[in-house]
Parts: sequence; structure tokens; C-alpha cells
Amino acid sequence: VSLVLGLDVGGTKLAAGLVDDRGAVSRFASVPADAADGPAAVIERLLALAASILDARPAGDPVEAVGIACGGPLDVEAGTASPLHEPGWRDVPIRAIVAEALGVPAHLENDATAAALAEARFGAGAGMRDLVYLTLSTGVGGGLVLGGRPHRGRTGNGAEIGHIVVVADGGRPCSCGGAGCLEAYASGTSVARRAAEVIRAGAVSALDADSLTARDVVEAAAAGDAVAREVWSRTIVLLGAAIASLVDVLDPDIVVLGGGLTGAGDRLFGPLEAAVAAHVMPVLGRRPLIVPAALGPAVGVVGAATVARDAHGSVG
Ligand SMILES: [Zn+2]
Repeated sequence: VSLVLGLDVGGTKLAAGLVDDRGAVSRFASVPADAADGPAAVIERLLALAASILDARPAGDPVEAVGIACGGPLDVEAGTASPLHEPGWRDVPIRAIVAEALGVPAHLENDATAAALAEARFGAGAGMRDLVYLTLSTGVGGGLVLGGRPHRGRTGNGAEIGHIVVVADGGRPCSCGGAGCLEAYASGTSVARRAAEVIRAGAVSALDADSLTARDVVEAAAAGDAVAREVWSRTIVLLGAAIASLVDVLDPDIVVLGGGLTGAGDRLFGPLEAAVAAHVMPVLGRRPLIVPAALGPAVGVVGAATVARDAHGSVG
């Protein structure tokens, strides 16, 4: 079985691994992205990580392609990336840089689209044809698999679920330049920031506005803290509304949630199921399946490699 190298360029970490045609990963490794250092330094670290994995593989294991998962926006035709959560990136020709450095054909894919494909082939949605994927972390990433194929749209920047407008009038500013997007409410960063703002405005809370994370908000909400409960319940309402809309539009087999915020477990999935059920078209009697992602920290690497393998129909 031939192997494909998967690379995942994230805002907080870089990951790489060799992936076979069943989605099994070997030699998985990750390093901090230190994204503040800018694109040249990040790419140097990525190539060093890739080289360490390729050098360590048994002689005779051919690596025929490399897939790169990266945050959007991307220009898939040109192979360039301008990720919102990586400072200083603007039309970085990452596909050409990686292909030249490693000497194998390279393919570039939106990280959440790659993750959606990986979950649909090998993870929580294995065997299903229509899957909605959201990652709730620094931002809110989105990916769609429709009829078994990743949905990219006209420019490769489709499925930006994080930028569905959930507050159309006077919403919070978003990293994309817009306002009122789901990401401005339901990313881990936004959950923490919203709670901090309420506390700084004078609300009484057990939370420390100067050092709080989304996890702190979830735990304080469960413990009865009024500020945390308000912020968390609003998060669930808006996330539920966005997912209900997607369910009504796409009628998917499954909705898969990944990213750090899913560490909240039942405190997320329990109320979210109720919030989605409250908004899907009642007449259809839909009971959407909403589940945690199954592939863990390697999901982007598996997705990137799977995209590259699909593009090289002969590989494997
Ligand atoms: Zn946005």
C-alpha cells in the first residue's frame, strides 16, 4: 500500500503523518505553530517536520503525494493560502513551496473541508454520504461532504459555516471583516471574550476576566455562575440555530463537531440537541444526529492525505 503524507497547518500547531488508504496514520507528529513568527518561519517548521517523518520511514515505502490542510481563505487554483488565524499570511504559495521542497505532487485543501472528508470516510460518519462538520476552536471552521464528495464551491471557499450570520442586526465583529457571524459567538475564543466583557462591565462572577478560557465558562455555568450560564446558553442558542438551518437546507445523515470546545462533552451536546430540535422544521419531524468527531488530533492530517489520494486516482 502506498502512503500519502498529510500536513495540517493550524493556528496553534502544525501536524504531519503518513496515511494509508484506510485512513490509518503512522509517524504522526505535531509541533507548536508559533504563528506569530509569520509565514516564512511557520513553513520552515512545517518542512522540517515533514522531512523528519519522510526520513524516518522504512526504505522502499514510496510516498507518492502530499496533502496540505490549511485554514481559509484559500485560492485552490493558485495553491495559495491567506488563513485568517495566521498573522502575516497573504496569498502564500504554500502548495508550490511544499511540492518543490519534498519533490512530490502537493494538494491544498481547506482544513475543515479536509476534516469533514476524513470523518465521512473513516470517522464518526464512516459510510455516510451527507455530513456536516464544524470545528469549534480558535475560530469556527466548517466542512461539508455531500453525496460522498467534499463540497468546495466555485472558488474552494465554500462551507464557511463559521460565517453564517446568526445576529443580522448589530452583531459582534468577526475575524472575517463581517459582523454577527457564528464564529463571533461560538468559537472558544469568543465564548471566553464574551464572558470577560460582561464581567468587565460590572457583572458579579466567580470568573476572572483577565484569565479565563471557554472551558472555565462551561464549568462555571455548570456550577451555577450567572454570567457563565448566560454566555453559555446564548452560545448554545445561536449554535443550535445555525445547525438547525444547515439541517433544514442539507438534510444530512449526521452533524459532526470537533475542536477544543467539544471537550465540554454533555454540557455542549445535551443542550445543543434540544436547541437544534427546537428550530428544525417541525413538520418534517427531523431528529438530526449530532456527534463528536472521532479522529482526534490527526483529523486534519488524515483529511489532507485523503484529498491528495483522491486527486491521484492511481495512488494506492
Ligand atoms: Zn465572519
